[in-house]
Amino acid sequence: MEDKLRLEIVTPYGLVFSDDVDEFTATGSEGEFGVLPGHAPFLTTLKVGMLTYKKGSETGIFFVSGGYAEVGPDKATILADSSERAEDIDVERAKAAMKRAEERLKQAEKIDFARATAAIERSTIRIQVAEKKGSK
Ligand code: ATP
Repeated sequence: MEDKLRLEIVTPYGLVFSDDVDEFTATGSEGEFGVLPGHAPFLTTLKVGMLTYKKGSETGIFFVSGGYAEVGPDKATILADSSERAEDIDVERAKAAMKRAEERLKQAEKIDFARATAAIERSTIRIQVAEKKGSK
């Protein structure tokens, strides 16, 4: 059985992460799941949430905006609209995005409700993820 798993996080902005890890957890639509090397293949949708990985004594923590996870025995690909490491999250920017979306929601009618609530979800989770830090 393989003892490492290649984890890749891909967004339209580029390859966010690619490395061999010991395990990772991500936020599936049905809840958090964990993957170890040698896992049976599966495909799942993700919701806005956190992804963590372990590689030896190193822990990495990412914000993932939702998307898909394709898992195989020796490789997992996360396809997301956006993703950043916890340490790279600009909390002021997330707070500003949340404020903008909240203002839009107050305008009742002529707004895209789903878009505003999705923006609030992204900013809320970004702020939560930013409070967590990985370790090397
Ligand atoms: P904003 O309105 O601030 O752009 P958003 O939720 O609409 O927020 P996204 O569409 O999810 O932003 O992401 C656009 C790009 O900006 C992606 O590359 C994402 O990684 C980056 N990004 C968005 N918000 C932050 C943040 N608070 N800190 C760091 N990078 C961010």
